[in-house]
Amino acid sequence: MEEKQYLLGMTLAEIKEAVEELGLPKFTASQIADWVYVKRVTDIDEMSNISLKNREILNSRFNIGRVKPIDIQTSTDGTKKMLFGTHHNNKFIEAVTIPENDRLTLCVSSQIGCKMNCVFCLTGRMGFSGNLSTNEILNQVYAVPDAENLSNIVFMGMGEPLDNYDNVMKAIEILTADYALAWSPKRITLSTIGILPKLKRFLEESSCHLAISLHSPLSEQRQLLMPAEKVYPIEQIIDLLHNYDWTHQRRLSFEYIMFAGVNDSPVYARRLVRLLSGLSCRINLIRFHAFPESSLQPSDEETMIKFRDFLTSKGFICTIRASRGEDIFAACGMLSTMKNQKKENGEKR
Ligand code: SF4
Repeated sequence: MEEKQYLLGMTLAEIKEAVEELGLPKFTASQIADWVYVKRVTDIDEMSNISLKNREILNSRFNIGRVKPIDIQTSTDGTKKMLFGTHHNNKFIEAVTIPENDRLTLCVSSQIGCKMNCVFCLTGRMGFSGNLSTNEILNQVYAVPDAENLSNIVFMGMGEPLDNYDNVMKAIEILTADYALAWSPKRITLSTIGILPKLKRFLEESSCHLAISLHSPLSEQRQLLMPAEKVYPIEQIIDLLHNYDWTHQRRLSFEYIMFAGVNDSPVYARRLVRLLSGLSCRINLIRFHAFPESSLQPSDEETMIKFRDFLTSKGFICTIRASRGEDIFAACGMLSTMKNQKKENGEKR
């Protein structure tokens, strides 16, 4: 029997095509999009303005494609980490919601694991098991607790979003489309290590905010921390960013995890200033969350404050990002579902 397709993750144009193929009235496509994306139904039978007969036809070929989290952990600071199954057998992903004043930010995953192998990141240590489909990306947006109250989405979860370009861009298209959530792209931030050809396309094809994982202004050192630097050098990434306007609505930020004795001395602060000069941007300093297998250690608070003050004195908007959800391993660089995979394997044996 042919596997059913998921409606969540289809653009209106794709739904129209499917409706035509099934011989349903044309206007059914907008009704379906409205039920799935705006009214957030989880069952085709809830689409009450579509006739029973047509719902049966739809049911024969489609599911909504919503799945609930398998597990939810809540941090003492209110951050929640959700575990989801994927369409890949025995592979899991995580999404995190972070409440802050009147904002609720969702950190979404775009891949199962990651190919980029950054040495400071637990996701990188999982290896790579596959791209998430647009359905699996959007399911995180729809299935987390308080989904209707989300104010922002950041592509900073598991995976490198530009390495799953088509599915991520389709998710962004749906999030911002009038027929779906009609979000402003300014509520969405994509964080990347800077896969150059895809970055160029992203800058031209979207107007979402951009965050670049920088972590060192020196190419040789960045290579040690992030092997992708060998292929996509930071100097070339910066050159590309100079071609775009960051002075108005669209925001450019750089993420800089601070490692004790590695990239946190005044020399690095000065090199950062040189590298980023002329770019209208923010710099987010992030405390490293150490894990047992890593020799890297976090910089101390005083060093981070001095580093921040220096960058601020040079005219950059620079903040030390508060750590959220560290107690449930939900903080930056800590997402990993390796233990779930192992547990599942063990149970199956
Ligand atoms: S930091 Fe990002 S790009 Fe690097 S391994 Fe982790 S998930 Fe991948």
